[in-house]
Amino acid sequence: MSNELAAVAYLVAAVLFILGLKRLGSPATARNGNRLASIGMLVAVVVALVDQGILDYVWVAVGLVVGAAIGAILARRVEMTGMPELVAVFNGLGGGASALVAASSFLGGDPDGVVTLLTLSLSVLIGGVTFTGSLVAYGKLAGRIPGRPVNFPGQVVFDGLLGMVAIGSVAWFTATGDDIGLWVLAGVALVLGLTRVLPIGGGDMPVVIAFLNSLSGIAASMAGFALESAVLIIAGALVGASGLILTMIMVKAMNRTLIGVLAGGFGDGDGGGSGPIGDKPVRQGTAEDLGVVLAYAQSVVVVPGYGLAVAQAQHALRDLANELADRGVDVRYAIHPVAGRMPGHMNVLLAEADVPYDQLYDLEDINPDLPRTDVALVVGANDVVNPAAREDASSPIYGMPILDVDYATTTIVIKRSLSPGFAGIDNPLFYEDGTYMFFADAKAALEDLSREVKEA
Ligand code: NDP
Repeated sequence: MSNELAAVAYLVAAVLFILGLKRLGSPATARNGNRLASIGMLVAVVVALVDQGILDYVWVAVGLVVGAAIGAILARRVEMTGMPELVAVFNGLGGGASALVAASSFLGGDPDGVVTLLTLSLSVLIGGVTFTGSLVAYGKLAGRIPGRPVNFPGQVVFDGLLGMVAIGSVAWFTATGDDIGLWVLAGVALVLGLTRVLPIGGGDMPVVIAFLNSLSGIAASMAGFALESAVLIIAGALVGASGLILTMIMVKAMNRTLIGVLAGGFGDGDGGGSGPIGDKPVRQGTAEDLGVVLAYAQSVVVVPGYGLAVAQAQHALRDLANELADRGVDVRYAIHPVAGRMPGHMNVLLAEADVPYDQLYDLEDINPDLPRTDVALVVGANDVVNPAAREDASSPIYGMPILDVDYATTTIVIKRSLSPGFAGIDNPLFYEDGTYMFFADAKAALEDLSREVKEA
């Protein structure tokens, strides 16, 4: 293939990536966007294989078969609720792969030039940090290592020293091209990834995962500079930039700062509830009572949360909403940016059940309407509706924007017990006068409510 043809094909791939990303901006065009970006990736891969001739095709085929087999098994086995862990692993592998590609381009081809050596070393540094940092994030989310911040004495000094060694190694390698610098850098990067993510609490993992995603893109982009591959530079930059935008959205949604998150020490949530708390009285409702409340409401705002995903109750929720809509009830869905366990988790679940996109409202759009809403129906959500975030300055989640469901005339909360959510803290909403608790698995509860609404 001629160089010109390859360049044009790469340009087409890059344009497809950009168009794909743009289309991901709206749920209505997102599937199409995903398809466009996939076609772009296919073009880039095929051209790279035909154009470069850097590898034996037998090895390419072996890699393809092994990778595709692992991917297919994971796609079948991993539950929707395990998606964040999988995303964390993917980020890590992306960063690690970029570091390896950059390092092998040096070891195999002996490139020189300041820009090449600088970007190559940055790819190894950022990719290495992303690799081990993502493994720790995975461990925290999967409950394999403690979700609380893990510190050791002298950690700040130790990390500071590692940071200085990393900068020194980048400078040394860029100036001399001596491969010792690269090995030292790789080792330091791998340790830094561990020691930088371990002190961050489980509560901040949404931000960490988005940030590591951004870093994996930057590592790829740096590898692109080292390899002089325009398509890798562009694809990496797109991942880096969109990951950073997502990071800032998550940081804002949790009322944190990026520096504050990375400094660690906050959020001792271990990713799971820890049994009932408190013995304050709560008002419980039955399917019969609550079915009537819903059936005779004019407006209902549904707040889905992590429990909806655990119960796989999205279809049952859509059925209840249809039942209510048939009676003329105005049903809308309020989506909190950190509801569930991954960015966009609730959107994906509701899309799976064919809930129309125009019924989904962002936090800032729906909150002003909640005081005028008859019923807020909270399904398996907890932290994202905790009024302590608004009112209790001593609460660990104080300042995090929440959905103001307690301002609705009546609030119905479906969950199995009084157990806390991810943040591991009590929720005063459950004890308020206007709140009815419906203790049950979300799917069973929604099916019961649908039946009662039909009969009301
Ligand atoms: P929470 O984790 O606060 O609460 C979920 C609730 O669902 C639990 O209290 C649990 O109560 C209930 N539940 C679990 N299983 C079921 C079931 N089968 N049926 C009914 N209820 C069930 O979820 P939210 O969505 O409100 O908040 C998300 C939290 O996760 C936030 O703290 C966020 O910071 C964090 N996070 C978010 C990420 C993201 O990217 N979105 C990533 C990582 C963390 P019970 O056991 O009593 O049923």
